[in-house]
Amino acid sequence: MMAPIMMAPMMKYLAIGLLWVVCPWVAPAAAESYRFGAVWDGDKVWKDACITVQGEHIERVGACPAGALNLSRYTAIPGMIDVHTHMTYVFENKVSRPGRGAAVVFLAQDNARKTLETGVTTVRDLGAQNYADIAMRDLIGLGQMKGPRMFVAGYGLSAPRPGRPTSPNSAKGVDEVAKVVRQQVDAGADWIKMYGSTGSGQDVSGTQTYTFDEMKAAVDAAHAAGKRIAIHSYGPDGARDAIRAGADSLEHATDMDDETIAEMVRRKIFYVPTIDHNRYYADNYVKLNYPPAAVEGLNGFVQRNLETARKAFRAGARFAMGSDAVYTMFGENTRELGWFVKAGMTPEQALRAATAGGAELLGMETRLGAIRTGYLADIAAVEGDPLANIEVAIGKVRWVMKAGEVVVDKTR
Ligand SMILES: [Zn+2]
Repeated sequence: MMAPIMMAPMMKYLAIGLLWVVCPWVAPAAAESYRFGAVWDGDKVWKDACITVQGEHIERVGACPAGALNLSRYTAIPGMIDVHTHMTYVFENKVSRPGRGAAVVFLAQDNARKTLETGVTTVRDLGAQNYADIAMRDLIGLGQMKGPRMFVAGYGLSAPRPGRPTSPNSAKGVDEVAKVVRQQVDAGADWIKMYGSTGSGQDVSGTQTYTFDEMKAAVDAAHAAGKRIAIHSYGPDGARDAIRAGADSLEHATDMDDETIAEMVRRKIFYVPTIDHNRYYADNYVKLNYPPAAVEGLNGFVQRNLETARKAFRAGARFAMGSDAVYTMFGENTRELGWFVKAGMTPEQALRAATAGGAELLGMETRLGAIRTGYLADIAAVEGDPLANIEVAIGKVRWVMKAGEVVVDKTR
């Protein structure tokens, strides 16, 4: 059976197509041109150029026709891609909750809006409860909720731990792992997420929780279903096995040895270090009810994470930008770019991770991550030169377009 998630947009296009056949007087929307002081198209810079948008897509980049809208104070960059969010983790009555009940989808609208304001137009959401992420993706896709385009994982697979209640994401042993992967796919997940080690929130331990065989079973089941898989590991052991098992992206990992990094490079596996999220936890430990003692551990993890990212970048690893945003971190999604520059990237290389890198990881490299003819019209206008100073991309987003629609406008 076809997943209902695919049906909805297809029906929409079918309906539009039929309408076009029976009502030839329905004219397509006129193309609009936007004039920028500069356009970084994901690859090179165009000075004083226009982006012409037709419907949801970019028609062309180049000389300005008469009547172009004037945004010449700004530099255009491709809409950015945050490949690690938890959009449905909301901060409710001062209590952080990973998604309680159906109300979460409503409360999460705030996270979606704040994400758009950072110039992020696409996210990969890596773990939710009750398929709230799928509901959110579909509402955004239908235009009923304002937010970035979402690729979602449903429940992230987690090894059952003694003393903790089992939940729909619990899976142990290769057969059960494969079964729970298929359950996420059947529920409509675009991606698979597996927690291959401990570590989250104030807990920065990185004890491996899935064996190589279980990771391999998850990877194989995901790939057999035509899906990609992200494996979380805070520590080096889970990372080593995640890489060997052939994960499509490795999340967080610190202290990876040279051999693991070399294998990651050889297999072209994306590294999503999510350095900034532990900075967020340390900065907000009071609000999050963490004991003061947790801060030291979090800061230590940040430093090891940065050092590992530096090593991996030097070794030629491919990076995508993931914030691991939860609760009140939305709006800070792109601060990870600052860490990428600290890890040795130029601002342009950091921006590539947040555009072409994310697009390739998602398998959307012919539609997202560049301002190019035929691509979806996802554009962020920033004030200043983001290639000279990455802080411009992080904190000076003034206008955002997603699929041809202006979703943020702070130009006035
Ligand atoms: Zn996460």
